[in-house]
Amino acid sequence: MLVGVVGGGQLGRMIALAGIPLGHSFRFLDPDPRCPAAAVGSVVAGGFDDPAALERFAEGLDVATFEFENVPAATVERLQSLVPTAPGARSLAVAQDRIREKEFFRDCGIRVQAFEAVSSETELAAACGRVGTPAVLKTLRLGYDGKGQAVLRSARDVPAAWRAVGGVPCILEAFVEFGCEVSVIAVRARDGDARTWATCQNVHRGGILRRTVAPAVDVGADAEREALDAARRVAEALGHVGVLAVEFFVSAGGVVANEMAPRVHNSGHWTIEGAVTSQFENHVRAVCDEPLGSTDLRGPSGMVNLIGSVPRRADLLAVPGARLHDYGKEPRPGRKVGHVNCCAADARVRDAQMRVIEGIVGG
Ligand code: AMP
Repeated sequence: MLVGVVGGGQLGRMIALAGIPLGHSFRFLDPDPRCPAAAVGSVVAGGFDDPAALERFAEGLDVATFEFENVPAATVERLQSLVPTAPGARSLAVAQDRIREKEFFRDCGIRVQAFEAVSSETELAAACGRVGTPAVLKTLRLGYDGKGQAVLRSARDVPAAWRAVGGVPCILEAFVEFGCEVSVIAVRARDGDARTWATCQNVHRGGILRRTVAPAVDVGADAEREALDAARRVAEALGHVGVLAVEFFVSAGGVVANEMAPRVHNSGHWTIEGAVTSQFENHVRAVCDEPLGSTDLRGPSGMVNLIGSVPRRADLLAVPGARLHDYGKEPRPGRKVGHVNCCAADARVRDAQMRVIEGIVGG
């Protein structure tokens, strides 16, 4: 099939790298003709809100999908009218709005922290009184990797926090005292077959994912079951087709859903070598309406993100068991330019590999 992917970043590139062995070919819509996915398919260069570019992109496609969620609703609707598209508009709309997302989790019976919508400094001060402090203020839309966020330690921080997010509509959330952060990657096919991979334990710094291990280590069996079940419920309630990720805080009171991404996710990159079928391949299978592959773990797995630049490439390649994924991007501070995966027969070996990789990567 000819598969169209809206967005030509590293996620699009890895979707194609998984789909090409199955006999599919790929076309991307991206403003940058030299985007990371240009190495693995053709690129229609154009903005996501450019109707003419969208028509050129959609022409002759068998199916279409997305590698990121901040696609204008009008683009999603037009694409759906031209070609079978997955996931659907509902999955994207819920994930694009942090209030809608939290309400959706709550309606699915999934625990969320206290939250309120705020659209002025006065509203923020009032919400602060009800939600309590510490709290986190996040822009309602277009936030990712910790961008558009401010922590309020007390009500005195209201003016500075409001300035920091640029005075746009926001969500104020109670700060969650968490033991660790986990995510669950789930995939759902058109026929309703839904599967999850092993729970991922994630470490963020500066709002950016740094490392993942799977299966999660510091989460009890009950919390793990709760997270796996919640992700599956989200996929089912959305009627989602394709991969989605749900991120949770593991707190003393159980798992608290933080956010979802209706797409393949950075915390699932370990599945390339660590699972029988990767998140990327199962996403392609789901979108192309083909049977899903096993999500079983091959062995304890890990992933270290490369942020800013690819450091000491030869050293990384020399680590036994390490698998380098270089996205071919220009270095830039804070930019995800690659990741290194490992998968071992037992967790001690995996941990030793992670230590060596992290020693090379630094930071
Ligand atoms: P997000 O953009 O919502 O994924 O936030 C990025 C990171 O900031 C999360 O992975 C957490 O490490 C931290 N964070 C965000 N929201 C909260 C919260 N309500 N309580 C505690 N930490 C948070």
